[in-house]
Parts: sequence; C-alpha cells; structure tokens
Amino acid sequence: AKELVEFRNLKTHFQTSAGTVKAVDDVSFKIREGETLCVVGESGCGKSVTAMSLMRLIDTPPVGGEIFYDGKDLLKMSKREMSLIRGNDIAMIFQEPMTSLNPVLTIGEQIVEPILLHQLVNRKEAKKRAIDLINLVGIPRAEKIFDSYPHELSGGMRQRIMIAIALSCNPKLLIADEPTTALDVTIQAQILDLMRDIKGKLNTSIMLITHDLGVVAEMADYVVVMYAGKVIEEAPVIELFKHPKHPYTKGLLKAKPIINQTQERLYSIPGQVPNPVDLGDNCHFHDRCESCMQICTEKTPPLGTDPNGHKVACWLYEEEGKAQ
Ligand code: SF4
Ligand code: MG
Repeated sequence: AKELVEFRNLKTHFQTSAGTVKAVDDVSFKIREGETLCVVGESGCGKSVTAMSLMRLIDTPPVGGEIFYDGKDLLKMSKREMSLIRGNDIAMIFQEPMTSLNPVLTIGEQIVEPILLHQLVNRKEAKKRAIDLINLVGIPRAEKIFDSYPHELSGGMRQRIMIAIALSCNPKLLIADEPTTALDVTIQAQILDLMRDIKGKLNTSIMLITHDLGVVAEMADYVVVMYAGKVIEEAPVIELFKHPKHPYTKGLLKAKPIINQTQERLYSIPGQVPNPVDLGDNCHFHDRCESCMQICTEKTPPLGTDPNGHKVACWLYEEEGKAQ
C-alpha cells in the first residue's frame, strides 16, 4: 500500500539540567494507508514523543529530521496549516478519556464542535453526524448519550466517545496512545474490537502506541520496537513474532508479565532501561544483553535490513554496518 506518513531521521531532544535527553534519536519508519502500525516499548522509550512530534504538540520542536504526511513535511508547515491537519487529517486518542473530555459540556457538544470547526455543515447536520458517530462506536441510545455529561458515562463508554470525536472528521490517520491501558481487561478487549472494526469500515491508518505485546498481537499489521529513543527492530507482525531478531524483542516475547506492577514495567527482563541523559555511542541495550560483544559498547548498531525487509539494529546481524 501507499505510504501515508514517513518519519525520516527524526530527532526530538530535550535539554535538562542534568544534560541532553535524546527522547527520539534518529528515528525513521513509515505508516502505510489502511495499516495498523504498533509502536511498542517500555515507558520512556520515545514512543509517545514520536507521536507528539508528529502532532506538533511538543514545546521544543524536533532538532532534526522530517515527518512527511501525504508528501509534505509537517515540521515545515505554518501553525495554521498544521492546525487544519490536526483533528482533520490526523486525530489522536489518549490513555485517560476523562481528562480529555470537558466535564461541563455535553457529549453531543463535544462531538459537534470539531465537526463545525473542520467541515462545511450546519449545526443540524453536525448533530446528525454526531449521532451517527455515537452509533458507529457501538453505544446504544445515541440520542440520550448526546445530551449526557462525561461523568454519567463509564470509562469504556468515555473511550468510545473519544474515538467518535477522533473520527468526526474522517481522519486518514488515527493515533492512539495506550488507548486501553486505563481500562479493565474486558472493556479493553471491546475497545480493541471497536478499533479493528473501524479500521475495516473506514480504512483509516492507525498508529497504536503500546507497551503490551498482547495488544500488538491482536491489532498490528506492522510493528516498530523502540528502546531508549531508537528503533531497534521492525517487521510485519507475524514475521516479528515468529522470527524476532533483537535480543530485547526476544526478551519481551519470552518474558511473563508481572502482575500488579506499575504499568509499563510489565516485563521481567533483567536490568533497567538506561538513564536517558547523555546516552553514548553504543548499543543502548548492552547492559542488559546476554550476547553483548566488545563492539556493542563502542558503536551504535545501525538499523539494517534483511532480504525480507525485516529490520534490526544489532551487531549480531551486522558486519561493520553492512546488513547480512
Ligand atoms: Fe546485544 Fe550487542 Fe545486539 Fe546490542 S548490539 S542487542 S548489546 S548483541
Ligand atoms: Mg507514553
């Protein structure tokens, strides 16, 4: 399929009193039309910052790279051009729907508002469209819900409403950052079903950010694995699960989730993610890697591609930077 988004050597760095945090460091990947791409990794790996850079919702703009959307570099657009794309071509849903909904406005007003903002319809048509959307996201008695307030809805219903708002302008790309993490398991499965259903109906591309490999297995067409600000592996989902290459990905797939741990610290790979400040020229995973070699502590492995298009950044698969 045709590509819709291309991150090209994106670098989003932050200056802190302790030093430079390279939250996203030289990240490149593509999202194709109609594809669900999962970005997977632990907390702080740069997956949310990558999405926020695309939406241009970060105060410090990226220090390098490009983000092409439909052939145009989003990072070069004026604020006005960008605001037309945001919520219209590209929409985002967040982890905690309560904080993204306005508690003093009805559900209906919150769906109608972006429709009126981005589309040439009158209030009556916008209301009709809002009610259609509430139906589309699987909530019964849409008219009644239209006049309800957020606190009158359950967490799962609120997340459905967030999806309705995101879909209100027929976005080509839906970005979902841990959309089910705050929900219980049953509701989580329902929301994932809904997102799959919507993708099937509307052919929207989805960029789904998650730390949960169960979610990846259910949702992804294509997977990008991030670690300490870098893409360390990417492949179509079946290929990645069948033939993981990077020792970190292999660890994630082998590790059992630890119940009752704080979210995003679910995997029992020994060791800690490195301090994000002033990461050196090395494989950022070397402290935790059983296969660590001399070169791993001295040079950052490039992201190489095998003949099947499976990409990995690891010296086990490289000969002095040339893909085998
Ligand atoms: Fe392990 Fe070296 Fe590969 Fe990093 S580059 S994952 S340290 S083998
Ligand atoms: Mg995050």
